[in-house]
Amino acid sequence: MSTPRIAVFGSVNMDLVAYADTAPATGETVTGTAFRQVPGGKGANQAVAAARAGADTVFLGAVGGDAFGTELRDNLVAAGIDTTGLRTVPGPSGIAHIVVDGRGGNSIIVVPGANGGVTGTVPGDRELIGGADALLLQLELPMEAVVAAARTGREQGVRVHLTPAPARDLPDELLESVDVLVPNEHEAAAITGRTDPREALAALLERVPEVLITLGGEGSLHGTRSGAPVHVPALKVDAVDTTAAGDTFCGSFAVARAEGADPAGAMRFAAAAAALSVQRRGASSSMPARAEVEDLLR
Ligand code: ATP
Repeated sequence: MSTPRIAVFGSVNMDLVAYADTAPATGETVTGTAFRQVPGGKGANQAVAAARAGADTVFLGAVGGDAFGTELRDNLVAAGIDTTGLRTVPGPSGIAHIVVDGRGGNSIIVVPGANGGVTGTVPGDRELIGGADALLLQLELPMEAVVAAARTGREQGVRVHLTPAPARDLPDELLESVDVLVPNEHEAAAITGRTDPREALAALLERVPEVLITLGGEGSLHGTRSGAPVHVPALKVDAVDTTAAGDTFCGSFAVARAEGADPAGAMRFAAAAAALSVQRRGASSSMPARAEVEDLLR
């Protein structure tokens, strides 16, 4: 089996997380209990997941010319990811400013920074995308950029996976270039207006040929336009932090499919990777290496 090649075109952020017993109200200042600075962004997280799952992975996107930009790039390089397609642009990198209160509730401000300046593909992206078996997209870049990347993937015969997060209306000009849509149950409900995952799956299959809905601790549900939907349960584990469980799942699923696994096999592989990640704190730092996933599945 040759090593699968995955391209991710998406966001990369520095997550700045402040913990306090009570989040401040407007006009109030509170003393926090801890602070963490963690690389994030759905695009970068999915790229790390794909690399950990064993793929040759290339990341396309943008960081700013600030210290965060250097750190975010170094983090991707340290994960073994090709950053040829990661441009450095003037101005700040994307950040997510997160306040976590004593009950685990959070409020988040995302400032897109360099991500917001990605409005399309640039020369060189075509070759990087065309060299991949699958292209992973999310919705944290401007829509016009996501559409341009999806089209490039489609033109080059690359399978295009889209995680529709954050949830929003999906234009036909995007979905016509998407092979696999991978929402979580909340996104699937927001897009279709159907809270029942099987009904949402059927509605989404009218727009794209393959859909995989993740259901948190309930597993995942896959369907195509022919045949019955397939449900694969999640592994029963003690979850301590589900941050980036979805990104771990999406990256791992894409790698397993690119290796030739059928949907159910790829869902089992992805469920094992995500189950390992939710047992550890952190975002991309909690993602397991392939050997750990294979041990769990043995
Ligand atoms: P996030 O936004 O936290 O990254 P998500 O909402 O996109 O996650 P989920 O549907 O919550 O994605 O989870 C993705 C996959 O992770 C699930 O299909 C499941 O396999 C695994 N998972 C999530 N939560 C748990 C859990 N509590 N126990 C075991 N596996 C879990």
